[in-house]
Amino acid sequence: MSNFHLAKRLAALPPYLFAAIDKVKEEVRATGKDIISLGIGDPDLPTPDFIIEALHQAAKNPANHQYPSYVGMLAFRQAVADWYKERFGVSLNAADEVVALIGSKEGIAHFPMAFINPGDMALVATPNYPVYGSATNFAGGTVEYLPLTDENDFLPDLDSISSDTWKRATMIFVNYPNNPTAATAPDAFYQKLIAKAREFNVIVAHDAAYTEVYFDPAKKPRSILEFPGAKDVAIEFHSLSKTYNMTGWRIGMAVGNPQLVAGLGKIKENVDSGAFQAVQEAGVAALKHGEPYAEKYRAIYKERRDVMCAALKKAGIEHHVPEATFYIWCKTPKGFTSADFVTKVLRQTGVVVTPGNGFGTPGEGYFRISLTVPTQRLEEAVSRIVNL
Ligand SMILES: *Cc1c(COP(=O)(O)O)cnc(C)c1O
Repeated sequence: MSNFHLAKRLAALPPYLFAAIDKVKEEVRATGKDIISLGIGDPDLPTPDFIIEALHQAAKNPANHQYPSYVGMLAFRQAVADWYKERFGVSLNAADEVVALIGSKEGIAHFPMAFINPGDMALVATPNYPVYGSATNFAGGTVEYLPLTDENDFLPDLDSISSDTWKRATMIFVNYPNNPTAATAPDAFYQKLIAKAREFNVIVAHDAAYTEVYFDPAKKPRSILEFPGAKDVAIEFHSLSKTYNMTGWRIGMAVGNPQLVAGLGKIKENVDSGAFQAVQEAGVAALKHGEPYAEKYRAIYKERRDVMCAALKKAGIEHHVPEATFYIWCKTPKGFTSADFVTKVLRQTGVVVTPGNGFGTPGEGYFRISLTVPTQRLEEAVSRIVNL
């Protein structure tokens, strides 16, 4: 018998905190109970037909059957630049300030490999999308976590970070609108972040996957690149996944500082060979013509948000009404840990929500609801929770 040992980088991964809840889910499912999953951040609505049609046409072109360019087709990068101009008023040079990604997760996961040396440190605002930390560790770096709490409006307190810490940091990961807390960031936060990053020569990696899932057109979430000086220090990761219901397609982009974009491109050149060009062509169609659809999806999520928030209020569950994302970040009732409460809800109602501590220690005492089921199912879930 062979005996293989996982590399230390895998052994060092934090324990998978959803294992216990997955087990309970299987138990509950086995009893025949109707399970409603509000656990995952994956849109339930299908990709718009015109995007599927664009893929269909592009798939028939033999030129698209060959290796793509690892940085992406110029047509896709130009469509990204045009979209950034139209949506954020941000000018990007498609040639060296945009790189196509096989989903933004791919770019986020590869980015630390380009700029983190063994022993280098990255700051990560937490609770967080887990990839920032694991990717930093995979590159040999260490992570110092910046807690996001109700008290700080789920924004890292940049002033409380010591000069010594700023000096030791190579990069900082932030994500607004935020998964899992659904928080948005005010202008002053981005301005201060850019000033600190410039002062201490720290790379800012901004994950902007949810900028198009907002509910008040007067308060559209912003790109960090809208702020003066951002291009000196920042790379922004974005994606077509959440905007156009394209999570399965694997298409996203990184934009911003050309040195940072080139560094990521260098890793990609050695790891993958880019996204299928037909998918990139469909992505061009989405970026050019997808806005009316994004508008429709926002209205659907808003309706779901309102249904869920009203029910949570009735049930006495503390939460902020989100201005963006399709998540609601809720406090567990007094006396319950995240795991206890989530397990109780699942056992008694068959509704799956995500324990907050799974996203990092400051998430303890919270749970996340995902609005990615049809409104009717959400109403069913809500009535079960209210009667809990
Ligand atoms: C969904 C998500 C992503 C990545 O999505 P891709 O499909 O890889 O583009 C990135 N960051 C956050 C916070 C997300 O929730």
